[in-house]
Amino acid sequence: MITTHQKPDPDALGSSLGLYHLLTQLGHAVTVVSPTNWASWLNWMPGSEKVIDFELNREKSDQIIQAAEWIFCLDFNTLSRTKNLAPVIEKSSAECILIDHHQQPDEKQFAYGISNTEKSSTCEMVYDFIVDSGYRSLIDETMAECLYAGVMADTGSFRFPSAHAATHRMIAELKDKGLRHTKVHEAVYDNFLENRLRFIGHVLMNRMEVYYEYNTALIAISKKDLLRFQIKTGDTEGLVNYPLSIQGIKLAALVIDRDEERKWSFRSKGEFDTNTFARNYFDGGGHYSASGGRSSESLEQTVHRFQQAIKENESLLL
Ligand code: 5GP
Ligand code: MN
Repeated sequence: MITTHQKPDPDALGSSLGLYHLLTQLGHAVTVVSPTNWASWLNWMPGSEKVIDFELNREKSDQIIQAAEWIFCLDFNTLSRTKNLAPVIEKSSAECILIDHHQQPDEKQFAYGISNTEKSSTCEMVYDFIVDSGYRSLIDETMAECLYAGVMADTGSFRFPSAHAATHRMIAELKDKGLRHTKVHEAVYDNFLENRLRFIGHVLMNRMEVYYEYNTALIAISKKDLLRFQIKTGDTEGLVNYPLSIQGIKLAALVIDRDEERKWSFRSKGEFDTNTFARNYFDGGGHYSASGGRSSESLEQTVHRFQQAIKENESLLL
């Protein structure tokens, strides 16, 4: 079995399916189980139609987990990122193998694994895994599309410092294998409905606060906004990056009022460690420049907590 974090993004689903295609070619019986649903704009990914949504198929997922000898855990650092799937994995007798690039992995939860925060994406790590296992010749266009999607998304289309020379070399090789990269960009970035663009307009106009004294900007989205624009899973992806394009802004934050919790996203430029910030204040974590967290307080309360937090971090934000 292969699994990844809840609400899988292009790196989570791309790495899972890239590995899935390799293991299937090698004759293994393998199923990708996602802890939750994912954005419909990821359904172009070859193999996504075979991915099982744990929340929709509890019984089938339980059978797969019971029968599994190995569970590949991709693109997360602690089992709690698989939400309600976590206790089921913990109970299973299968050995967990980690492949991930987030900070501070919960090592005791995994029997084997590779954690490398230097890597651009889990997709790049799956590519390395394939090549280092001697299966370079098995990489085909299908695998290339899945793996490219994750590298593209996690490097902000190759602009973040994590896009190393080795990352570009990997992409060059995927191109040699037949990858049509424009198709992937369009599938991920030019595949929204009109309501999503209107929603972004509304949010940037009416829901963004800029705290120039702390070089910080915040977007807070209520349930009412989500309902008004019929926002679905994945529609808010990338929204947190807009405030970072304002001159001088070092920290951008986005909080969304989801049913079960208030979900935070943090992005930074330069020297501000969002991983530590998310861990200290919002029960979260991630990478240095991109992290997430959560809160069970109301939207208003958690926003207030954020305002306090940036005050306390003033010296790091200047
Ligand atoms: P995003 O803002 O795109 O949801 O997440 C940014 C990064 O932080 C991702 O790499 C994601 O895996 C990680 N992340 C998001 N939310 C959480 C969380 O609640 N806990 C931890 N440990 N990591 C998170
Ligand atoms: Mn990733």
